[in-house]
Amino acid sequence: TTALLARAEAQSALGAFLHLDREAALAAAAAADAARAAGQATVLTGVPIAHKDIFVTADMPTTAGSKMLAGYRSPFDATVVARLKTAGTVSLGKLNCDEFAMGSANENSAYFPAKNPWDTGRVPGGSSGGSAVAVAARLLPGVTGTDTGGSIRQPASFTGITGIKPTYGVCSRYGMIAFASSLDQAGPMARSAEDCALLLSAMSGFDERDATSAQRPPQDFHAQMLAAREGATAAKPLQGLRIGLPREFFPAVLAADVDGAVRGALAELEKLGATLVDVSLPRTELSIPVYYIIAPAEASSNLSRFDGVKFGHRAARYDDLLDMYKKSRAEGFGAEVKRRIMIGTYVLSHGYYDAYYLQAQKLRRMIADDFQRCFQQCDVIAGPVAPTVAWPLHAQDADPLQAYLADIFTLPASLAGLPGMSVPAGTGANGLPVGLQLIGNYFAEGTLLHAAHALQ
Ligand code: GLN
Repeated sequence: TTALLARAEAQSALGAFLHLDREAALAAAAAADAARAAGQATVLTGVPIAHKDIFVTADMPTTAGSKMLAGYRSPFDATVVARLKTAGTVSLGKLNCDEFAMGSANENSAYFPAKNPWDTGRVPGGSSGGSAVAVAARLLPGVTGTDTGGSIRQPASFTGITGIKPTYGVCSRYGMIAFASSLDQAGPMARSAEDCALLLSAMSGFDERDATSAQRPPQDFHAQMLAAREGATAAKPLQGLRIGLPREFFPAVLAADVDGAVRGALAELEKLGATLVDVSLPRTELSIPVYYIIAPAEASSNLSRFDGVKFGHRAARYDDLLDMYKKSRAEGFGAEVKRRIMIGTYVLSHGYYDAYYLQAQKLRRMIADDFQRCFQQCDVIAGPVAPTVAWPLHAQDADPLQAYLADIFTLPASLAGLPGMSVPAGTGANGLPVGLQLIGNYFAEGTLLHAAHALQ
């Protein structure tokens, strides 16, 4: 903890942390030492981590990357935070992210952008950008992130680390500031699949405080990862594993360097015993309009609580109650958040609901059904995480739609609620990292982690 606090301070120009808390970290480290001395250590006791600033914490401020929540202090810990604390981890602070987790580059943070350690002139991806930077720059061995439409997988891909978004419902959303509640899911980001498995086991599990929490007994994902190997040989650990390649994940427009790195990783998986099969996810492109209707719709509803009364920034001067709401929200929210509130309010409004929101919901069901057809032919689906490597800072300032389009390969699994992961697949142009995406069936995290572990 002491060494990593110093390292985080020395590397502050990377913008990974919104709040680095030396005092709280040292106190937690002392508690971990005491637990170890008392013979109560778990595998995670004393392991330094940090949380995406979308998880509320009682001992540190929480901003969700927004000016709206500047100075906010939660009276309680998010369930994910509480569970990792119980497991003995030591939190160093809160990590930078896009405002309310809306974005793909961490440039929508109301505070400062995070920078990609591989090339500080480039974005680290988002919205869990600070989380990815902290692991990639070796400031921390593991961190938490959240993924609504790719926010764990895409920054993991852009920074060459490993991240997993589990099946919707595996991690509790209690205390995770809501963006799009039917899509939001927490997950770990770390250097390896094995470290992700250990963190996920500690942070997941049924929580009666989250109505969509999956009612399952506690899972040992590390044991599941190892069990998935049983029956296979050391030389061919993936013997019998069928990996489906959706043809829509390899379009002609896919950047050649990404295509090359992903195909290289697939060849490795084949050498490890897996068989590759062609499959189809015919509605892949439609996942973009579907997601960018459903997610803003839910966001417009979720963010109505930030009214300057119950939560958040309140304007200093106003005429009456309505004026106070208007001024507080106009001042507190950034441009991307306002854009999504407007889109969401529009698609939910009378007369447009049937034309947009209802159609999107129907397509969402069809996208989930397409996956089930694929899983009759394969055990795991593989493809790129993102169509390109990390782009330069400010490259998308003029056109936010570009970032939406780049979410094409992560949105389908999010809409279906399926687990997805990003595993380093080598490098593309300028030596920048490329991630391989693995998507599993519901609750098949063990299989995903096993495939990723074999590759690593
Ligand atoms: N890039 C997507 C968006 O902007 C996904 C964000 C996320 O997963 N939180 O909505």
